[in-house]
Amino acid sequence: MQMPSVQMLAGGEPIRVGSIFCIGRNYAAHAAELNNPVPKSPLVFLKPASSLLASGGRVAIPAASKDVHHEVEVVVLIGTGGKGFSTEEAVDHISGVGIGIDLTARDIQSRAKEKGHPWSIAKGFDGFAPLSALIAPQAVGDLTDLSLSLTVNGEVRQSGTTANMLWPIADLVSYLSSIFTLYPGDLVFTGTPEGVGPVESGDQLQAILGDGIVTLDIGIE
Ligand code: ZN
Repeated sequence: MQMPSVQMLAGGEPIRVGSIFCIGRNYAAHAAELNNPVPKSPLVFLKPASSLLASGGRVAIPAASKDVHHEVEVVVLIGTGGKGFSTEEAVDHISGVGIGIDLTARDIQSRAKEKGHPWSIAKGFDGFAPLSALIAPQAVGDLTDLSLSLTVNGEVRQSGTTANMLWPIADLVSYLSSIFTLYPGDLVFTGTPEGVGPVESGDQLQAILGDGIVTLDIGIE
């Protein structure tokens, strides 16, 4: 069995993935659409590496859920690890940028929230972390004003910009490094803008970074 890995768009060896950090409620309009308060510090959770899915893949709706939602997110790859980076230093630790979808079994997550339980199952099924190939941050330009969007069967469902993040990407990487030692190959899903909604069997999803510098295409089984 192959270990979960990601690929740079420019080619090269697959990059073995370590931890997958995810940020919840990083866009005020998305927090509001789910009636969640805006957090006082970044809301962090993790997905298992087994949830990764490359572009072109297909994901099954798990039998345990009747309400799987799409959440399009900018994803960054940690290139140089370490701990305790300042916001200024953080950008130098990012070696790749891509577009991903934080698939979420909303019904399972809602029940977990009610009980104060973790979200790991709701967020962690096989294929629940589709991710595009990654490009060098220099090729993307300004990480603080990067557009992202998602279409379902060709219809735009989510469209946003990282300019609306509560915590910009560099702040998130700095914050994570204040708690966790980061390793090369770690990924950060940086939160979703508003417009999340359910996917159905047969849907075709396309996530787009910027003007289409990288795209991600997946099907729902
Ligand atoms: Zn998310």
